[in-house]
Amino acid sequence: MSGNKYWSKIVSELDPYVPGEQPKLSNLVKLNTNENPYGPSPKVLDAISASLDEDLRLYPDPNGDILKQAIARFYGLNTSQIFLGNGSDEVLAHIFQALLKHKHPILFPDITYSFYPVYCGLYQVPYELVPLAEDLTLQVDDYKKANGGIIFPNPNAPTGRLLPLADIDALLQHNQESVVVVDEAYIDFGGESAITLVDRYPNLLVIQTLSKSRSLAGLRVGFAIGQPLLIEALERVKNSFNSYPLDRLAMVGGVAAFDDKGYFQETCEAVIDSREQLSSELSALGFQVLPSAANFVFVTHPKYKAADLSAELREQGVIVRHFKQARIDQYLRITIGRPEQNKQLLDVLAVLMGHL
Ligand SMILES: *Cc1c(COP(=O)(O)O)cnc(C)c1O
Repeated sequence: MSGNKYWSKIVSELDPYVPGEQPKLSNLVKLNTNENPYGPSPKVLDAISASLDEDLRLYPDPNGDILKQAIARFYGLNTSQIFLGNGSDEVLAHIFQALLKHKHPILFPDITYSFYPVYCGLYQVPYELVPLAEDLTLQVDDYKKANGGIIFPNPNAPTGRLLPLADIDALLQHNQESVVVVDEAYIDFGGESAITLVDRYPNLLVIQTLSKSRSLAGLRVGFAIGQPLLIEALERVKNSFNSYPLDRLAMVGGVAAFDDKGYFQETCEAVIDSREQLSSELSALGFQVLPSAANFVFVTHPKYKAADLSAELREQGVIVRHFKQARIDQYLRITIGRPEQNKQLLDVLAVLMGHL
């Protein structure tokens, strides 16, 4: 317990999420928060520029219809199956409150996105950690027990490991009494989306974001896809919290991002190519590299401490992410950069490992 007499009990007991460093210096090679190394589509920038006018005095559309329509077009959905939020973190927050707060604990992996336990604290949602297997894969059989809901990222973070769609289908076959949330922040880097299962399962909710594969982390746009009754639950929370989570610029930028399929595919492919190349180069330096379907790799080295490597890389101007957490404290999570950034990382590592 900390704080003072003005703080509510719940605030005193919160254990907030700690985001990766956003350094003020610009000459660093920033491979620590899974941002896209390529800028957003030029059409996104044009659309936002074209909207910089006096209409900013007006509130945005509270329902975000133009963006829902663009997402519906892209995935072949109905707009009643889409919920929009100010980044998928906000979408997730509403999900914890609207759909995961029940008597039974919700289930999520012991190694996963560290915001989930934070939301459980904020919304007083009981939870139970389900350990990943030794090789850090998620085993759906481990989730076959009474629960108030299930949530995991696919690919998982920070491991990058992908769960095949057939496994998600099998989990849903077995688990129909509570909501299953698949957080697809990284799905566009090589996975198969569970959106195709939404029509079959009324308890499935798929979450995506424009922050990673569409290079718009700074714009704050995320969304959920599910059957209309789940979406309605989220709309009820949203309209009891903030009716205008997306501003006018975010909406037009988001529409342009979905409509520019060519740029999206090109940049995703460039990241995937770099991931495969970086993975083999890191392996050549002796790292064990988990197979990744995301825009980052999760690596460990038998001879060097991850904390030391991370600190030394920082000294040399390269920032990666190290989690001081049991089971993964010997791993580094490295975001895929542009080819020249990846090369800088490898060059610095090669020198470091010579004298560490
Ligand atoms: C990045 C990330 C998010 C949050 O994305 P925003 O839309 O930027 O809030 C959610 N889940 C996972 C697993 C992520 O890695």
